Amino acid sequence: MAFLDEIGKTIAGRGKEAAQKAKDAAEVLQLKAQISSEKGKIKELYAAIGALYFKKHRGEEADEYRMFFPEIEKGLAQVAQLEEKVMKLEGGRACGRCGAMIRRGDAFCGKCGAPAEPEREEPAALEAAAPEEAEAVFEEEKTEL
Ligand SMILES: [Zn+2]
Repeated sequence: MAFLDEIGKTIAGRGKEAAQKAKDAAEVLQLKAQISSEKGKIKELYAAIGALYFKKHRGEEADEYRMFFPEIEKGLAQVAQLEEKVMKLEGGRACGRCGAMIRRGDAFCGKCGAPAEPEREEPAALEAAAPEEAEAVFEEEKTEL
């Protein structure tokens, strides 16, 4: 019957169409993932160039991108401060020669190479910390008790 043949063809056609659409959708997802991956690589390279540029020009007051420098300097200082806190909490101590933090268990200062003083019983972090920081460390230890 011609009528049923037509219906059969239509159904088969729709099936093919749906299969093609699903294939296209899968390809679109794959392409989008590739685009995202490439963009990620480009972003990393941009960041690398930015970091190199900053290191090279951070001292130049007339640099054309100097408007970005203070925020970067602020961020770097903040990171250093937070890392120092972590190191103190982990039992690190300040170098007697240059003041850089020496990680617990390290025999020498990583910055100036001075031999680290032997670790004592009491937490060196309290001695090395500035007065208000020492208080903060003490309070944190108290609240843990
Ligand atoms: Zn040192």
